[in-house]
Amino acid sequence: MTNTTITDTGTAAAGGTAEAGRIAVYAAPAPRAPLERTTVPRRALGARDILIDVRYAGICHSDIHQVGDDWAPGIFPMVPGHEIAGVVAEVGPEVSRWSVGDRVGVGCFVDSCRECDNCRAGLQQYCTGEGGVVFTYNARGRDGAPTYGGYARQLVVDEQYALRIPDALALDTAAPLLCAGITLYSPLTHWGAGPGRKVAVVGLGGLGHLGVKIARAKGAEVTVLSRSLRKREDGLRLGAHDYRATSDPATFTELAGRFDLVVNTVSAGLDLSAYVGLLRTGGTMVQLGAPDGPVGVNAHALLTGRRSLAGSMIGGLPETQEMLDFCAEHGIGAEIELIRADRINEAYERVLRGDVRYRFVIDASTI
Ligand code: NAP
Ligand code: ZN
Repeated sequence: MTNTTITDTGTAAAGGTAEAGRIAVYAAPAPRAPLERTTVPRRALGARDILIDVRYAGICHSDIHQVGDDWAPGIFPMVPGHEIAGVVAEVGPEVSRWSVGDRVGVGCFVDSCRECDNCRAGLQQYCTGEGGVVFTYNARGRDGAPTYGGYARQLVVDEQYALRIPDALALDTAAPLLCAGITLYSPLTHWGAGPGRKVAVVGLGGLGHLGVKIARAKGAEVTVLSRSLRKREDGLRLGAHDYRATSDPATFTELAGRFDLVVNTVSAGLDLSAYVGLLRTGGTMVQLGAPDGPVGVNAHALLTGRRSLAGSMIGGLPETQEMLDFCAEHGIGAEIELIRADRINEAYERVLRGDVRYRFVIDASTI
């Protein structure tokens, strides 16, 4: 393991109380490079900022996409991590929502314009204002400095962009809820997963396994569509009523026209036509996976059943809090494999091989 120090290029926010400093992180120095321990600048605590002692950070497949420059050229060094659970360690003088010791989470974004229609509606993830939503890492804040994510010992964030983690949730299994959990909760809510509705979850990984738990807790009839039956026992234990292999052509004939809603969490590009054919008339297929290339669909698969193809990205602040409260009420956390930070690169390899049950979570005290 190498220990390098990255030159401070960030501009600290003005008006802070705490000294700007440096924080220990795991960062990718360049696209596709292994992550290594280093330090990055931490902005001074602004009047409405909180300093969070990060306890746990989930490894989302989006971290791997971004370190791999799959979507667009990234900002390096990159400190991934947007499934963050920790404890408030310090508050700025005008902070009103939090006290030292509060259990908080931070998800995929740390700022937005706060004025556009979407921000006012609590849909900050779809901010259309100037500069748009500021993602937790691999982005630039309104001060122009790069944002650094949760594979870190600490994080400074505006108090409005932190969420309350209910006491009923353990911090380690709650961390993945901040991205994977809300990414499933939002479309399942929007498209009405509930009693009397049949929902299929495609891909049983980090997102998918929480989709199964949440859809089941909402009262829907849940089917997992996985490449093989290898994880069938797990799927049923997580709450699925049925579990089918997409490698078996019979799955697509037997389940044709069955579902009200299909949510696709697959990280790779798929031809969606066969999956769209599983929808009943008027049903909706929601694309959640974010592969680098296009996802295709045969027009006939859509038009023969007035079916819809939709997409959904994470969730806004109010809905993320609602999701955390829902998970606390229903005893839902992620199934995790807790790892030391020096195993991050190995964990990435395992996620890419599909060898994850069902979320790697980094113990931030090992950074
Ligand atoms: P993950 O844990 O790796 O799970 C992805 C699952 O997809 C795998 O477990 C596997 O399920 C299936 N899969 C993988 N490769 C496949 C292939 N070539 N063909 C068919 N199935 C394949 O990843 P994740 O963290 O859940 O993230 C999934 C995707 O969602 C990523 O692209 C990520 O960037 C994206 N994402 C989107 C949002 C959003 O807001 N929309 C938020 C977070 C993440 P089986 O083994 O069961 O087949
Ligand atoms: Zn994510």
